[in-house]
Parts: sequence; C-alpha cells; structure tokens
Amino acid sequence: MNKNDSSIIIHLLNENGYELVQDPEGADILLVNTCSVRAHAEDRALGYISTLKDWRKNRNRILGVVGCMAERLSGTLTKDYQFVDLILGPDAYRNIGYLIKEVSDKGIRIVETSLDNETYCGIYPAGLEISTFISITRGCSNFCSYCVVPYVRGGVRSRPVQDIVKEVENLVSGGVKDITLLGQNVNEYLYQGIDFAKLLKICALVPKLFRLRFLTSHPKDFDEDVIETIKTQKNICERFHLPLQSGCNRILKLMNRKYTKERYLDLIKKIKEEIPEAAITTDIIVGFPTETEEEFLETLSVLEKVKFDDAYMYRYSAREGTKAFQYESLPEAEIKKRLRTLIDFQNRIIADKTKAMIGKTYEVLFEAEAKKYGTRGKTRGNKDVIVEKNIAPGAVHEVIINKVRGTTPIGEIA
Ligand code: SAH
Ligand code: SF4
Repeated sequence: MNKNDSSIIIHLLNENGYELVQDPEGADILLVNTCSVRAHAEDRALGYISTLKDWRKNRNRILGVVGCMAERLSGTLTKDYQFVDLILGPDAYRNIGYLIKEVSDKGIRIVETSLDNETYCGIYPAGLEISTFISITRGCSNFCSYCVVPYVRGGVRSRPVQDIVKEVENLVSGGVKDITLLGQNVNEYLYQGIDFAKLLKICALVPKLFRLRFLTSHPKDFDEDVIETIKTQKNICERFHLPLQSGCNRILKLMNRKYTKERYLDLIKKIKEEIPEAAITTDIIVGFPTETEEEFLETLSVLEKVKFDDAYMYRYSAREGTKAFQYESLPEAEIKKRLRTLIDFQNRIIADKTKAMIGKTYEVLFEAEAKKYGTRGKTRGNKDVIVEKNIAPGAVHEVIINKVRGTTPIGEIA
C-alpha cells in the first residue's frame, strides 16, 4: 500500500515540476513514507528520521514525513522532531505540490492529518516497473482487535470502476505487464453494484493486460464467484493471499476476524479443488495476548494441512488505541520462541515446495537484474525465479527449473 502511495506522491510531484533522484544528497526535498502496523516499523522510521537532522541543516531543504505514522504520531513529530517541515497523513497527498511551495515560500511548517475519504480518483501514476499496484479500495472498517489500520487510514471506501479501468489502461499502454489490485480487503470492494468479482473481470478484459492479481483477500468475505472469474480469465493469476492470523478459533474470535478455522480450511479446499495449481499465501501473528502453547500448536497444524507457498509471519505488536491494547502481553521470550518455531516450520514447507519445482516448467515474466547474476522474474504464482542470463525486462519465457539456491528456483529457458 505504501509503495502505491509513494508512486501517487511521485506522480503529483512530477506534475509540479519536481524530478525523482536516487540519492538524498542530491535532493531538495526528502519524504519518508511510513508504516504504523507494527511498533518495529515505526521505531525504524523514527530512527531513520533522526539521522536526517544533519541533512536538514541546509535551510533550503525540505524534510517531510508522510503516511500512517505521520497520521498516528503527528504530535510526537511536531514536538520532538522540530526539523521536520511537512507532516502528511495518507489522505493529504493531493495538494502536496502546493503544500511544499507553502513550506518553501513562507518558511512555515505544515501538519495535515485529516482523513477525508480520499480515493485519489483521477490520479494515474506512471508505472515505473514491469509489475505495479493499483488501489481499488482505501482504508478499512473491520477493526481486527490488534490492528491500527482503521485508525490511521480511515474507513473503507471503493474507487469508482471507471477510474480503476482508466488506470489499468494507462499502465498497460505505458508498458506495465503485471498489475495487482490492492485493498486491505479486496473482497469488500463495492461501487454502484459492481462487486469485486465483477471488477476483476472488467479489469481482466482491458486489452493487452498480460497479468492481473489482487491483494489482500479476507477469509470472512471471500466469495466463490472470484474463483469462477479466475477460471474463465486466462490473464488473472491463480494466486490467493488469505491471511489466517491464527489457527485457533478462540484467538480468531479475540482478534475479531469473524471466521473459524473450519471455514478457512473449507475455503482452501474449495480453491484447491477448483484450481489445483493455485498458489496460496498467508499472514500469521504469534503471541497474541492469552495465546497458549496448545493454541499456538493449532496454528502450526493448519500450516501443515494447507502447506502455504509463502507466509508473512509476525510477532504480535501491541498498538495503542486498538482493542487488544488493553490485554496483557505474553512474556517476550515466549513470543520470540514461538515466532522462531513458526518460521522454521513454515520454511521447511517452502523448501520442500521449492524443491518440488525442479524438472517442471513455468511461465516467467522477467522483471529486473538478479542481485548476483542473471535475471529475476516471476511465475504466475508470484514466485521469484532466476535464469542465469541477461534477459530484457518485460520478456516472457517458459522456464524449466533445474536447481534451487537457498529458496530461489534457478532455471533455463525451455
Ligand atoms: N488487511 C490485511 C492486513 C493488513 S496488515 C488483512 O486483513 O489481512 C498486514 C499484516 O500485518 C496482517 O495481516 C497481520 O498479520 C499483521 N499485523 C497487523 N497488525 C499487527 C500487529 N498489531 N501485530 C503484529 N502483526 C500485525
Ligand atoms: Fe487491519 Fe483487519 Fe482491516 Fe486487515 S482487515 S487492515 S487486519 S483491521
């Protein structure tokens, strides 16, 4: 979501005559786009912002902090980080060019954190890479008990269908080949009677769109119509990101997730029956307040059953203002131990699944140079694959996997 917001900001700044540079030393303006989901993300952002005090000593420069942490901690930033000139919440980017000019002309500091149902309608950022994101909804009204998103990004709102389609068309004509429709819960998309399954189909029909994906699906709202749409539209990738969070019904209830382990497993069964090659990924939180060892083991048993292709695994982070903040946290050492066990457990599953790719052929869309050698691309299931050759970004090849390095499959063009 932040990556998408950054491209909106870059686009708006370009329109105001600014140009993106790679090195802070060559920049007149530096904006730090921040996340509030976990305390760790905020601590890192605050640490980085502190290091920019010297950079800002040049009075002609402008330092801004934007995004969810700017929204949540605007008071702290105003008081303790007085060298920051501009503090903008996630709904305050539309006038960023004007606000920067005000800061520069008047030498004032500007704080704008009101949440006003912004969807950035009519703003179509250029796709800077082969794969890119489009927000179809912004905000969230689900209030999972641990989550700060509804407070820092406001309630859920859907962008108009025509606006999304126009952005897809723009990106495709600019050379983007892989588009991910983005929302905290894409299954809640609703605009003038068009639900998510319908929107997905409408976007898939945009001429010359090579691949279409979506992120994130909420198990409580996932509608089986989406499976049908994926089966009928070749360019929609069969990848599902369905955050489980916990495999224990008592914890899911405390988390206010509104589904049970049984409903979740049913959904996975249906997806696998209908689309056997589906890649399924998830998010897990360990150490939610009051989670017992047995309840943690229930989560592992769901991982064992589903065999996720990937998982984002987090330790619970208490967020002020959320419902769960009032619950007493588990001991730090216990949370750490469970996270380690979880990561080791899931990594073994991923290693086995990656090894099983050897000898098979995948359609790979090449994106960029690999870190060490060769070119990195993605399968339809969103798995990174490397071919040890120079391949132009945007090229598509059938690739046969012949070995695995770490967790990355390496292959040759078939
Ligand atoms: N809207 C998405 C998630 C957005 S936040 C969904 O509902 O699935 C991305 C992930 O961060 C969440 O899925 C969750 O696993 C994790 N997360 C959110 N709040 C957290 C917290 N307080 N502590 C630890 N992890 C958290
Ligand atoms: Fe947070 Fe839940 Fe909304 Fe996801 S659905 S953003 S976890 S409140």
